[in-house]
Amino acid sequence: MKIEPRDIEEIYALAINVYHKKIEKNEAIEKAVELNLMSKGSAADYIQNLKYLLSGHTYNSGHTYKRTMNLAGTEFFLRKIRDDFGQNVFERALKTSYKHVKYYNALGHGKQVQTEQLLDKLKEELSQENSMAVYPDEVNLNPLFEGAIKNVSINAYERNAKARKICIDYHKPVCCVCSFDFSSHYGEIGKNFIHVHHIVDLSQIDGEYEVDPINDLCPVCPNCHAMLHTQQPAMHPSKLKAIIHSHNARVTSKSR
Ligand SMILES: [Zn+2]
Ligand SMILES: [Zn+2]
Repeated sequence: MKIEPRDIEEIYALAINVYHKKIEKNEAIEKAVELNLMSKGSAADYIQNLKYLLSGHTYNSGHTYKRTMNLAGTEFFLRKIRDDFGQNVFERALKTSYKHVKYYNALGHGKQVQTEQLLDKLKEELSQENSMAVYPDEVNLNPLFEGAIKNVSINAYERNAKARKICIDYHKPVCCVCSFDFSSHYGEIGKNFIHVHHIVDLSQIDGEYEVDPINDLCPVCPNCHAMLHTQQPAMHPSKLKAIIHSHNARVTSKSR
C-alpha cells in the first residue's frame, strides 16, 4: 500500500491526538486503517515514532526508534514538529532521527542514504533559523506560564517557527509592551532574542482559525510575557502597557 502525502498528514493528526492522550493508540490505528491511510503495522509505527520524536526518546540504552518511516513521512513529521512545537523540540527530534539512521545502517540491510541527506538538509535550515534565538522551552520553563501550558493551542501559535519569523521581521525584536530591546541592552548575544505572544483571545478561535503573524502575534520580552499570562485568557498587551504606565506614575508621585 503506497503512503501518499495526504495519508501522512492524516496519520500525523491522529498521532498528535494519541500524543496528547485525546484518543487511545489502538483507536487511532483502527481509524487509520478505516480511512485506508496505510497498513495496521505502518500506522502503529508512525504513531509510535511521533512519540519518540517528541520525547527525544532514547529507548532503554543507546538506540532509538527502530521502525522506519518513508522519506516523505520523515520530512513531514519533522517540519510539522518544528512548526507545532518550536525549534528546540525540533532539534531534539532531528537528533532522534539521526540515531535511527545510525541504528538502521548498522543492521546491514543497506544504508539510509536519502534519509541522512534529508536530515542534513533540515539541519541546515535549522541553523539558518537559529538566528531567531528561540529561548529553550520558552513557555515551559516559567511556572508563571502554567496556565498557558494547559492550553496547547496558545503555545502552538506562539511556537510556530514560520509565524514567529514573520512577526519578528515585521515588528522587529523589541518588546511591544515595554520596548525592551535585547540587542541594545546586551549587545551581540541579545541580537534577535525575543518571545512571541499570541494576542487573540482563545474563545474567539474556532477550528478554522489561521494565525495572522502580524496582527495576532507580537514580540514581547520574557518579563512582560510572564505578566501577560498572569491572567487567563492572557491580558491584552495594551492593558499591560497601561498598568505599567499608571504604576510608574504612582511610584513617581509617591517618591516626590
Ligand atoms: Zn517588555
Ligand atoms: Zn503569550
